[in-house]
Amino acid sequence: MSMDRLTTLEGHDEFLARHIGPSAAQQSEMALAAGYDSVESLIDATVPSNIRLTNPMALDGPQREVNVIARLKAMAAQNRICKNFIGMGYYGTHTPAVIQRNVLENPGWYTAYTPYQAEISQGRLEALLSYQQVIMDLTGMELANASMLDEASAAAEAMTLTQRVNKKNKSVRFIVDSDCHPQTLAVLETRAEPLGIEIVHGNATQLLQKGDAFGVFIQYPGSSGNVSDPSALIESAHAQNTLVVVASDLLALLLLKSPGELGADVVVGNSQRFGVPMGYGGPHAAFFATRDSYKRSTPGRIIGVSVDRDGRPALRMAMQTREQHIRREKATSNICTAQALLAVMAAFYAMYHGPAGLRQIAERVQLLTGALASALRSSGVTVLNSHFVDTLTIASDDQRESILARAEAQGVNLRCDNAETLGVSLDETTTRADLALLIEVITGESLSVDSLDVESGIPDDLYRDVDYLQHPLFNEYHSETEMLRYMRRLESKDIALNRSMIALGSCTMKLNATTEMLPVTWEGFGAIHPFAPIDQAAGYAELLTDLERMLTECTGYDAVSLQPNAGSQGEYAGLLVIKRYHESRGDRDRNICLIPSSAHGTNPASAVLAGMRVVIVECDAQGNVDIADLRKKAEQHSKHLAAIMVTYPSTHGVFEEDIVEVCQIVHEHGGQVYVDGANLNALVGLAAPGKFGADVSHLNLHKTFCIPHGGGGPGMGPIGVGAHLQPFLPSNPVVPVPGLSPDNDVVSATPYGSASILPISWAYIALMGARGLTQASKVAIVSANYIAHRLRDHYGVLYTGSSGTVAHECIIDIRPIKEASGIGEEDIAKRLMDFGFHAPTMSFPVAGTLMIEPTESESLAEIDRFCDALITIREEIREVESGRWSLEDNPLVNAPHTLRDLTGEEWAHAYSRKQAAFAMDSLQQDKYWPPVSRIDNVYGDRNLFCACPSIDSFRESTQDEPSLG
Ligand SMILES: *Cc1c(COP(=O)(O)O)cnc(C)c1O
Repeated sequence: MSMDRLTTLEGHDEFLARHIGPSAAQQSEMALAAGYDSVESLIDATVPSNIRLTNPMALDGPQREVNVIARLKAMAAQNRICKNFIGMGYYGTHTPAVIQRNVLENPGWYTAYTPYQAEISQGRLEALLSYQQVIMDLTGMELANASMLDEASAAAEAMTLTQRVNKKNKSVRFIVDSDCHPQTLAVLETRAEPLGIEIVHGNATQLLQKGDAFGVFIQYPGSSGNVSDPSALIESAHAQNTLVVVASDLLALLLLKSPGELGADVVVGNSQRFGVPMGYGGPHAAFFATRDSYKRSTPGRIIGVSVDRDGRPALRMAMQTREQHIRREKATSNICTAQALLAVMAAFYAMYHGPAGLRQIAERVQLLTGALASALRSSGVTVLNSHFVDTLTIASDDQRESILARAEAQGVNLRCDNAETLGVSLDETTTRADLALLIEVITGESLSVDSLDVESGIPDDLYRDVDYLQHPLFNEYHSETEMLRYMRRLESKDIALNRSMIALGSCTMKLNATTEMLPVTWEGFGAIHPFAPIDQAAGYAELLTDLERMLTECTGYDAVSLQPNAGSQGEYAGLLVIKRYHESRGDRDRNICLIPSSAHGTNPASAVLAGMRVVIVECDAQGNVDIADLRKKAEQHSKHLAAIMVTYPSTHGVFEEDIVEVCQIVHEHGGQVYVDGANLNALVGLAAPGKFGADVSHLNLHKTFCIPHGGGGPGMGPIGVGAHLQPFLPSNPVVPVPGLSPDNDVVSATPYGSASILPISWAYIALMGARGLTQASKVAIVSANYIAHRLRDHYGVLYTGSSGTVAHECIIDIRPIKEASGIGEEDIAKRLMDFGFHAPTMSFPVAGTLMIEPTESESLAEIDRFCDALITIREEIREVESGRWSLEDNPLVNAPHTLRDLTGEEWAHAYSRKQAAFAMDSLQQDKYWPPVSRIDNVYGDRNLFCACPSIDSFRESTQDEPSLG
C-alpha cells in the first residue's frame, strides 16, 4: 500500500460533499431526467459558450474544515485586543450568553429569510416589533423601523426624508452641526452631492441664523460627548420650517430626556451597544425613528400589527413591503436587506435587562465617567465638555505624546482623530480597574478610585425618569429560564433553513455551514473597534486582503471594495464609481442609466440616489433584453449615457446569449456596464462578469457566499470593478482605505462595512476551492433544471434559454391557473406552509408567478419532497377547476391551517381535516403548524400600528396555541 491511499482516505471528509446536497450519482440522474446525458452536457447547453471561462480560477483548496478553522484562528490571534475607549458610535458591551448561544449562534434565527411570508415568520416579527418598541420608547418618537444598515447611512436616509416631506421649505441646504461623528458627515456629503443637496457644516445654531435650510442635523450627546439642551435650536429651526434630525445614543437616552420630547422630527443612531459586538465595524442594527405623519416616507421595513382571518392579532411587514418593486425609481430609499438579526439581539438585550437593569447599566457608566472627569480636572487636565454621559474630550496640550505613549504601553485605545484633543468613552464593560488605568494613562499619576469625587454630568433639566419599556415584554423575562423559553417559543413559530428548503428565487438560500459561522462569535474578530489603530487589526488585514483576492478571482474583476453593507449599497457605490470615472474624463453630463424592465427594484432606486435618470429597456417575449430597444435607447441617449444595470443570469432565470453584445453596445456609446451580481450563484467558475465585458458588479455575500440572511439581514454587498474604476472605490475619513485617496466617496460608516461576517465568505471559498465553487454553480443549475422538468407537466415554466434549459432558478406561471380556477400564486404560497415549506419568490420579476431557486445545497430527497408538495397542490387546484371543491371553500384559499382550525369543535369544510393538515404522508413524521391563519394585509395598512400590542390582546389569542414542531 502506498501513501497515495492516505489522500483517498482523507478525501472522504471533503467539505464539498457536505455543502453540495446531491451525490455525484444523483447529479447525473437529475441531469438525465432533465434530458441531458451528463451534468457537463446540461451545463454546455445552458451557459453560452462565448462567455465560458477556459481556465480554472486561481484559488487554493479545497481545504478541510479543521484546517480552515485553524487558519482563521491564527488570523484572529493576530488581531490585538486592546481596551477600547474610542467611542465614536462603537462601544464595548456584554452580549448576554443566553442570547449569543440561542440567537446569534442559532440557525433557527440566523438562517431565516426576510419575513415577507408573515404567517411563518411570527416569531421574528414579534422580536422586530419589540425592537421598534425599544427605539420608540427611548427616542420618544411615534414610529420606528425594524433597522437600518448603519448609523451614518441612517443619517443620510434621514436627510433625504426631511427633504421629501418638507413642503414648506424648498431650500437645497442641509446644515450639519460640527459636533457630529466624522464618518457620519462623510456619508452625508457623499449622499448629498449627486442629489444636489448642499451640506453646510459648522455650528448649527449660528448657521441657522444665517440662512435657509430644509433640514439640520445635530448629535445629542455630541460626538465630543458634550450634552446640551437642543430644544432652543429645534424651536428656532421649526420657526423657519427647517426639520431637525437628531443622532443619538441608546445608553445616553436611558438617562436623558428623549429627542422626541425635545421636538426632533427624525432620530437615528446605532443599537450596537445593546449586546452586539463591535466586530470591526459591524454588523449592528442602526435605528430610524420619526413622526407618525412621515410613515409613508420612511425608509426600510416597518413591522405592523394586523389581524388574521379569525380576527386575531398577527404581525406583518407593513406598507413598503414591496416598496422598491412597486415604486421603482420613485422609491423613497433603496434599502432592502437591513440588519434584522442584530435588531432581534438588541430587543432581547432590552428584555433581558428590563428598564431598571438598563437604567443601572447607564447610571454605572455615567458614574464612572463622572469620577473620571473629576479626577482629570483635579489633576489639571482640561476636560472640554461641561456636561456628559459617557464620553469626555480633553485638550491634549503638550501631554499628547506622553499620554499616547502610556496608552500604547497599557493597551488602551483613546480617540485621537483630532490633533488638539483626545477622547475617552466608557461603556458597560468598563470596570473600576479600567477607571484607575485611564487616570494613570491620561495624568501619569495613580489614584485610588474609591475616594474619587463624582461630577454629575447631566444638566438637571435634561434628566429623565424611567418612562420607557413599561410593556410586559420587557419586564417578564429576567430569569434565564424564562428568557430561554421565550426565545425558543418565538423561534418555533418560524420556518428557517434548519426546518426545510427555502426555494426563494434570486435570494439563494443555501447552506450556511457551521464551520463558516464559528468565527463570528470569536473575540478575536468581535472585540476590535472599527477605528482601532490598524496595527491592532493585522489579522483582519490579512483576511480582508485575501478575501478581496478571492472575490476578484470569482468575478474576473481587478479590484474589490468590501465597504457596502448590502446589495443595495453595492449598487449605489458602484454607480458612484461610474459617475466619478466619467467626471474624471471630463464627462460631466453622463447621467442616464438604462435598466431592463425585469430588474430588481433596488436597481432604479439606487440609480436615482446616484443622481442618474432611469430609462427603461424593454424585454422581448423570451424575457431577454430587447436588443433593438437597447440600441435605440443607447443611440438616443448616446451623449448622456452613463451606464446600464443588468442582472446576469437575468432575473428571468436565463443566461441571455446576447450579454456580450449588450456590453458592447453600451460601451460604444460611452456608457459603463453594471452587472447586478445577485445571481452569481449560477456563474462562479463558469463565467465571470469582469471577463465578459462588465465594468462593475456587486456581490451579495449573503446569497452566493454563504452569509446567512438573518431574517432580513445582515448581508454584505462588496463591489468588484475593472482596473480603470479602482481609483474611485469608497474610502473612509477616519481610517482611509489603503491605496485610495482619502477624499473618495464614503458609503458606509466604517471602511469594511460589516467586517465581522466576512470570515464566513472567506471560509466558504477556502473550503470549496476553485473546483468546489465551480461544481456548486453546476449543481445549482442542474437542480433548477430538474425542478423545471418535474413541474413542467403541472405548471407552465415561463422562460428558458434557446436550448430549453433554465439557469439556477425557474419561474412557474400561475396566471393561466388563476384564469381557469381562481386560485392564485398567493394561495399556493400559503398552502405550501401547510406542507412545512416557505413559499418561493412571489410575483418577482413577473406578477402572478413563483420563482424557484433550489441552490446546490438541497438534497435530491428534499427537492423531491418540495416538488411533490407543489404537485399535490396542483392536484388540489384541479379539484377546484373540476368543481368538486368550490372556490370559496377549498384547502388553498383557507390555507394556512392552524392547529386551532383543525382541533375546533366543528369542521365545516368540504375537505377533510387530514387533507388540510396531512396532505402528504411524509408530514406525519414532521409537521409544522403555522401559528396564525392567513393575515389580512389591507387591514394592517389601513390601521397601521407599529408598537407592541397590549399583552392581553395577545394572550387571549394565543394561549391555546401550542408551539409544536
Ligand atoms: C437581493 C437582490 C438585490 C438587493 O440586494 P440586498 O442585499 O437585499 O440589498 C438586488 N438585485 C437582485 C437581483 C437581488 O436578487
